[in-house]
Amino acid sequence: MAIVQVENVYKRYRLGEQEVTALSDVTLSIEPGVFLAIAGPSGSGKSTLLNIIGCIDTPSAGRVLINGHDVSGQTPDELADLRARTIGFIFQTFNLLPVLSAEENVEYPLLQLPELSKAERQKRVKHYLSMVGLRKYATHRPNQLSGGQRQRVAIARALATHSKIVLADEPTANLDRKTGENILRLMKMINRESGTTFVFSTHDRRVMNMADRLVRIEDGEIKALGMRKDDGWVF
Ligand code: ADP
Ligand code: ADP
Repeated sequence: MAIVQVENVYKRYRLGEQEVTALSDVTLSIEPGVFLAIAGPSGSGKSTLLNIIGCIDTPSAGRVLINGHDVSGQTPDELADLRARTIGFIFQTFNLLPVLSAEENVEYPLLQLPELSKAERQKRVKHYLSMVGLRKYATHRPNQLSGGQRQRVAIARALATHSKIVLADEPTANLDRKTGENILRLMKMINRESGTTFVFSTHDRRVMNMADRLVRIEDGEIKALGMRKDDGWVF
């Protein structure tokens, strides 16, 4: 079964007198364990689609199913719980809390999981900071870390809740080329080893080529779906 099912989704924004259609009849099925890129130019609807998949925004029409459950049928509390346990977010600007250390940033979403004891939280924080290569930086605050290191903290934070899906909105946009590639390689390694589903947006051709599935979006519409075969894409 698909982990995410997007069915005939539209998103319209009102801007004064005008209406902007950010997504138009988007249908997409995401299989568990994929490493999927949503690729398209700026303004094509990538962020809107990720936000709707991540249940932080709602469609104007159509529906979204996570693990087969229609999210529109959930109460706000159920939705908050689903998000906390199923979905992790990574942003282009990292979105770490500046007054918290790396380890406190990773622990933060775990505070929403009441079944975890303090000791269990700390064990997870250690595990995921090690996984991203930042064990020695646990007590550093974001402004004491490089861009690549900040994004590693964000990856650890997204994984610490045992998210089934990690959604990354232009995760390399604020990193230099080499650092961005390293971040993508790290995400891919985690995807291979843990089976966590990764969906990331990008407008960068080199970055999209690191995916194994591709969704091409333009003007709010899906134009092509690609699958990696050997060195190229099959559409
Ligand atoms: P991308 O992530 O590909 O750059 P977005 O999803 O951010 O694209 O935006 C898609 C379209 O929707 C753009 O035309 C954008 O201006 C518009 N849009 C996005 N968010 C809003 C909003 N909150 N209000 C009005 N228009 C918006
Ligand atoms: P950036 O170039 O932004 O620091 P990279 O993605 O190139 O990020 O990764 C650099 C990684 O190297 C860091 O995440 C960190 O784990 C490791 N690292 C950097 N400096 C040191 C150091 N002085 N001691 C040990 N490890 C380090």
